[in-house]
Amino acid sequence: MSTDCIFCKIIARQAPAKIVYQDEHVTAFHDASPHTPVHLLIVPNRHIASVNEVGDGDEQLLGHLMTVARQLAAQEKVARSGYRLVINTGPDTGQSVFHLHMHLVGGRPIPLRLG
Ligand code: AMP
Ligand code: ZN
Repeated sequence: MSTDCIFCKIIARQAPAKIVYQDEHVTAFHDASPHTPVHLLIVPNRHIASVNEVGDGDEQLLGHLMTVARQLAAQEKVARSGYRLVINTGPDTGQSVFHLHMHLVGGRPIPLRLG
């Protein structure tokens, strides 16, 4: 755990969040400033700052993030209507929390704007 990381604190239940899923490896909770009707963050329980810090031994963990995303999309009833999974990495993407997180956004049409 990184003591100055807000997501580590949420995972440890030392900071408030609406947690919708937690297991040994992964936690998911509602984004505090949702952009879409459904906006969840799915994070590894272990502190990894970004995709740049992912190691070869993390492949199973990253695959698990994806299967949890699939489960939560069904739970949030956007599996059919559609959803987007986003992982921002570094300044050009506006990454603001340096604990790797996958956004799950859906619940309305979401145009992909790149610029
Ligand atoms: P990113 O820009 O990809 O780093 O996304 C960080 C996301 O974390 C933003 O969408 C924020 O709204 C969200 N966020 C920041 N602090 C919290 C918090 N304490 N609880 C829930 N979501 C948060
Ligand atoms: Zn952290």
